Amino acid sequence: MRQQPAEAARPRGHDLSSGSDSWASIRDRLHERGLRWTPQRRTLVDVLARTSGHVTGAELVEQCRALDPTTTPSTVYRTLDVLEDLGLIRHHHGVDGREEFHVQPIAEHGHLHCRACGGTWEIGPAEAATLLRAMEGERGFTVDLSHLTMSGLCRDCRSAD
Ligand SMILES: [Zn+2]
Ligand SMILES: [Zn+2]
Ligand SMILES: [Zn+2]
Repeated sequence: MRQQPAEAARPRGHDLSSGSDSWASIRDRLHERGLRWTPQRRTLVDVLARTSGHVTGAELVEQCRALDPTTTPSTVYRTLDVLEDLGLIRHHHGVDGREEFHVQPIAEHGHLHCRACGGTWEIGPAEAATLLRAMEGERGFTVDLSHLTMSGLCRDCRSAD
């Protein structure tokens, strides 16, 4: 999986929500991958450009179908794969294993999930460094940080206990 540049290192105006170059050229880039620029794909790109944070594939399908009832889930999922290949979105898995998509090209991170309140927090590379180093040193295993989702209890829920 491709490493994204850190938030601060990116030039301004290159996030997905601002009609950036990466979205503007998406038609050409899909074309290079042998995918036609169809109204359904355009709808998905429009929906993504207006979304921030995490969104599930099912939610994207639903939002696309609200705008264009001819959209099929397979079109949405296939296009999401290509957009991830192009580095425009990134997926991780929620505690239930479901794929969720990040629509901003943010730095790689893992997630904490509170099983009591359902809250989600991001774990950055610096915060995860000790854990990742231990896995690498003791097991020779390189953890894919974007696929690290840990379930537990957040501070608020612990103190409410
Ligand atoms: Zn995955
Ligand atoms: Zn909680
Ligand atoms: Zn996240």
